[in-house]
Amino acid sequence: MIATDPIVLESFLGGRWLRGTDRGSPLLDPTSGETVALASSSGLDLAAALSYAREIGRPGLRRVTYGRRASYLGAIAEVLSARKEEWYAIARRNSGNTRADAGIDVDGAIGTLKYFARTGAALGEAEFLVEGAPARLARDPNFQGLHLGIPIEGVAIHINAYNFPSWGLWEKTAVALLAGVPVFAKPATATAWLAVEMVRAVVDAAILPDGALSLLAGGAGDLLDHVRFGDAIAFTGSAQTGEAIRLHRRVRAEGLRVNVEADSLNAALLGPDGAPGTAVFDLFVREIVREMTVKAGQKCTAIRRIVVPAAFADASIAALGDALDRVAVGDPGTEGVGMGPLVSAEQRASVEAGLAALANETTVVYRREAVPSADGAFVAPVLLRATGSAPSVHEREIFGPVATVVPYGDEREAYAIARRGGGSLAVSVFSADPVFLASSAATLGASHGRVLLVDPSIGDSHTGHGIVLPSCLHGGPGRAGNGEELGGLRGLWFYHQRTAVQGPAPVLAELAGRAANSAAFS
Ligand code: NAP
Repeated sequence: MIATDPIVLESFLGGRWLRGTDRGSPLLDPTSGETVALASSSGLDLAAALSYAREIGRPGLRRVTYGRRASYLGAIAEVLSARKEEWYAIARRNSGNTRADAGIDVDGAIGTLKYFARTGAALGEAEFLVEGAPARLARDPNFQGLHLGIPIEGVAIHINAYNFPSWGLWEKTAVALLAGVPVFAKPATATAWLAVEMVRAVVDAAILPDGALSLLAGGAGDLLDHVRFGDAIAFTGSAQTGEAIRLHRRVRAEGLRVNVEADSLNAALLGPDGAPGTAVFDLFVREIVREMTVKAGQKCTAIRRIVVPAAFADASIAALGDALDRVAVGDPGTEGVGMGPLVSAEQRASVEAGLAALANETTVVYRREAVPSADGAFVAPVLLRATGSAPSVHEREIFGPVATVVPYGDEREAYAIARRGGGSLAVSVFSADPVFLASSAATLGASHGRVLLVDPSIGDSHTGHGIVLPSCLHGGPGRAGNGEELGGLRGLWFYHQRTAVQGPAPVLAELAGRAANSAAFS
């Protein structure tokens, strides 16, 4: 599997594996800087590939029920589970992942597929979705209305970020395939190797109808010039690219639905009762260190802002520094290493640029000096402390092992600080006070897609600030992209047109009988 010469990645389009016409972009091992693979999309006919998905893939998926499509997801999960060690090896080689990092990406994908296989099975033989029951619309009780969800008639175009080549691919694919919509996936070029090999394994296992799953390895090229009404785009990546996709001429002209998961300045908030020495304080410190170092901080949900009572700021910094000191940084293949490199030298430069941009508004309160190798894309964990109002701390996402301590005076100020992120994916609140926890959720819910409340009773059982669960919504308002993914079967609605059907009661009753209520099974 791991060759000395770079392997040439192929795209799976129109039911065939195809190579681009030029050498393409190098994919690197971020530990050594060595080129491990090449990816090119030059010369590939993306218009034809999209047509194939629409004309061959869609009918094949729609011919079978939700229940059958759910079984496809279970079969994909089995195929992927059988080859986990290969996926871990690629994740280490091309993403600089430790085994734990790779687990989040690979096992997270498999778990998500299994979840939708299980919950999707409950939709059984239904042909479409329904919301609520038929309701009378006029004096004549025979004239009624009903809201149905009918699967859209195009392609689900999935454009993914580099940090989760496996989970990003399968969490989106699972929901679209369950909805009966063919998938055209475009992983980020820098780490596309894992996505390509996984799709090859699934194609070889002949699980899906022809045309149900396509994969583009390499740049997006003219992909968006060929979208049309009925297609839907789910994008994960930077706010800048998300904006470019939304504003694309063809995307606007055809009125496409676009779901954007973009960058986010997530916060963790320590309650006023979380004094040093309490269990709450220890849980808070443990979670922040995990978030800063897992995947070297390259998680869209990672904690970037550490909001603490001013009286506990020094103690928090000291405890975080002690805990960060215990995380070994180095070659992710070495036993005991807790944090590997960033994905590339460009990302390292981007982190350094972010630190420079924050330099006037923060002080560095912790920085590990030693980095293992000059050739690799290593960055040591850095802890900053905001000085003054520090606007950039709330605006500039540093996509690496960097977080900033922001002290607060009272509860109102704490909430205001969290909101300064302008809309985030996740906030976590640490306190043993149930009133404070509940009021935090009620206040911060408006500006966050997910709120994690941690008290000592769930200290060891909660799944973590940064972990996205298939049963809970993923996405955040404002600068986080204003998107929504997953959330159990709620996620299916992105791939269904909600339509109000008005007509005679017996016809509506018959339609309701052919539909499944997604809310009943989430
Ligand atoms: P990116 O540069 O925006 O790239 C994301 C994807 O968009 C890649 O597949 C890229 O392809 C593609 N792309 C770039 N330009 C395009 C265009 N004009 N048309 C169509 N596709 C285009 O982001 P990234 O550097 O991979 O990811 C890091 C960012 O993603 C961070 O800001 C992070 O916060 C965010 N992120 C968000 C979430 C979330 O769920 N909210 C999750 C993970 C990451 P190429 O690779 O071929 O250029």
